[in-house]
Amino acid sequence: MNEHAAGSIHSRPFLIATICAAMFVGLAAWTELSNWQTQVSRINSYLEQTAKAIAQHTDDVIEVAKQPLVGLVLQVRNNNDTMLQKLELMRTMREVTRNSPYLRSLAYLGADGRLIESTTNVFSAGVDLSDRAYFIHHQHSEDLSPRADGPFKGPVTNEWFMTLSQRLNDREGHFAGVMVATIDIRMFVNFFKGFSFPGEATLAMIDGDGRLLVRSPMDESALGTNLSQTPFYRDALLAKGSGNYPYRSPFDGVFKQSGYYTSQATHIAVLVAIPQKDILWYWVTVSKTRWLFSLAAICAALAMALRLRHNMAMARRNQLMIAARDAEFQLIANASSDLIEKLDDNGLREYVSAASRSVLEVDPGDIVGKSVLDGYDAEVKQYWSEALANIAAGSSIERLVFRRTRKSGETAWLETVITRVRHFDVGGGMVAITRDVTSQRLLQEELDRLANTDELTQLSNKRHFNAQLRLRTAEARANGQPFSLLLMDVDRFKLFNDTYGHLPGDTCLRRIAAEISTSIRPGMDLAARYGGEEIAVLLPGLGEDEAWDRADMIRQRIAALEIEHAKNLPWACVTVSIGVATLAVEQNESDEALIVRADQALYQAKNSGRNTVLGGQGRVTE
Ligand code: GH3
Ligand code: MG
Ligand code: MG
Repeated sequence: MNEHAAGSIHSRPFLIATICAAMFVGLAAWTELSNWQTQVSRINSYLEQTAKAIAQHTDDVIEVAKQPLVGLVLQVRNNNDTMLQKLELMRTMREVTRNSPYLRSLAYLGADGRLIESTTNVFSAGVDLSDRAYFIHHQHSEDLSPRADGPFKGPVTNEWFMTLSQRLNDREGHFAGVMVATIDIRMFVNFFKGFSFPGEATLAMIDGDGRLLVRSPMDESALGTNLSQTPFYRDALLAKGSGNYPYRSPFDGVFKQSGYYTSQATHIAVLVAIPQKDILWYWVTVSKTRWLFSLAAICAALAMALRLRHNMAMARRNQLMIAARDAEFQLIANASSDLIEKLDDNGLREYVSAASRSVLEVDPGDIVGKSVLDGYDAEVKQYWSEALANIAAGSSIERLVFRRTRKSGETAWLETVITRVRHFDVGGGMVAITRDVTSQRLLQEELDRLANTDELTQLSNKRHFNAQLRLRTAEARANGQPFSLLLMDVDRFKLFNDTYGHLPGDTCLRRIAAEISTSIRPGMDLAARYGGEEIAVLLPGLGEDEAWDRADMIRQRIAALEIEHAKNLPWACVTVSIGVATLAVEQNESDEALIVRADQALYQAKNSGRNTVLGGQGRVTE
């Protein structure tokens, strides 16, 4: 896999995560925008509905207030001449005021504009009210429908009210005065306060001429202001009658969103407004929890994307490092003359170094994937199985040395060190390092042989003899098998040396030794140089008779060599005397006692004339 391809494949999940996060942010933003729009339109609708409700309430108030007014007007026109009738009118006016839930007071103005009757002292009798707008209106208008005016402030109570007035005609239809009712504007404010708004709401009621009738919160300086020239009045109230209108308040300078409704009956427009910042704040309040969740989700997604990227970078780095290590390992492994094998936990070869060609005489490719037990004979397989079992049981290192027959037929010695590998995160397996130790093994064998061999005769030396004697007698005692020892001594060898010289003496000893070597059972018996010209032979498994026969055979064969020894008469050739002793297993005889007995037999053989074998049964051969 090349660098570029690897990079593009590994960065794709991160790209997808980033795109998803971006889409999520976009979606959240889009949702919030539409939430905001819904919120604004819902508030707009609510403002307009509230304005309509207040306007209709105002219509109702005026309608209800108008009824007694109309009744009174009729009463005045018909019966208003006598004092009694005047008192009766006064009584009726007070009763109407008391019974009406909305009327605060009633006043009756004459055709000259002077006050004739009043239910309160808001209007004092005789006061000239001919300059009032409603009076001038009714004086000059034939229209008999009631007219709303205001606001006005009571001179004594300081309370704000609006008036509802109606023209009075005499019987001939001439102007006869005005009946005026006052309505407390707090009533509208209280009604308005019954609504709840997501912010500090303001109420404004504007009459048909564009004058501010009611405002909440109360602003006395604003009441009565003529708004007929404002764009709101011209473009919205007059033009449309109802709707929503964003504007900057001419009174408090705050930018507001409003809903308005103009009554068709009274032409009074009601405007309900809340500051735009309150809408925003309300929206923030209701959306806050959602936003927090979204924010948390975005943060989590971002954190995950970053972590993913980090992990991918780490994984990529690890991959490169592992690849580099692997390459390095293979370079080292292949350069080594030792066979290096990586095995899994079951002993299957995962990697085999190039040295398998020299060590096992197979190509690495031929044994990769195969069990490490394959290709060995049963005995070696057993060693390997035990070593693998030890590793599986917790051993961290195992060493085994085994023999292998080469294709050429030669025997090779191999040494394997198996080391357990434990990675902290992934499995483990083993590394087996195998080397050819044939030359070392042969050298070792040669050294061992030299250490046990007598240089002159090439028989075992006395040290080896002692060790072997101990081992083999113990074996014989344990198995209850016979065991015999021969001790032989060259006859008159001092004379041989004296006659022929020391070097021929040595040669003679070598020939005797060689003859003995070929006269014993190879791999079983052991011949050793016991002293100067004394030789001992261990005969495991042989009883007295067999040992005696073997000894006599040796004696004869040495004599048969016919090595000249003129002074060893009567034979005139080299001869030996042999003492035979068989281990008395039943008597639990010691090695020392056995040697002593063999030595005694030899001594007797010498005394009985030499070239003789003398054994425990006293048999003598000459
Ligand atoms: P006997 O028949 O009683 O054994 O007479 P002998 O002369 O052999 O007597 P003994 O065993 O006491 O003498 C051993 C002689 O063997 C002494 C020595 O000269 C000779 N000898 C011992 N070791 C060697 C050796 O390594 N080389 C040679 N050439 N002679 C040796
Ligand atoms: Mg001797
Ligand atoms: Mg001798």
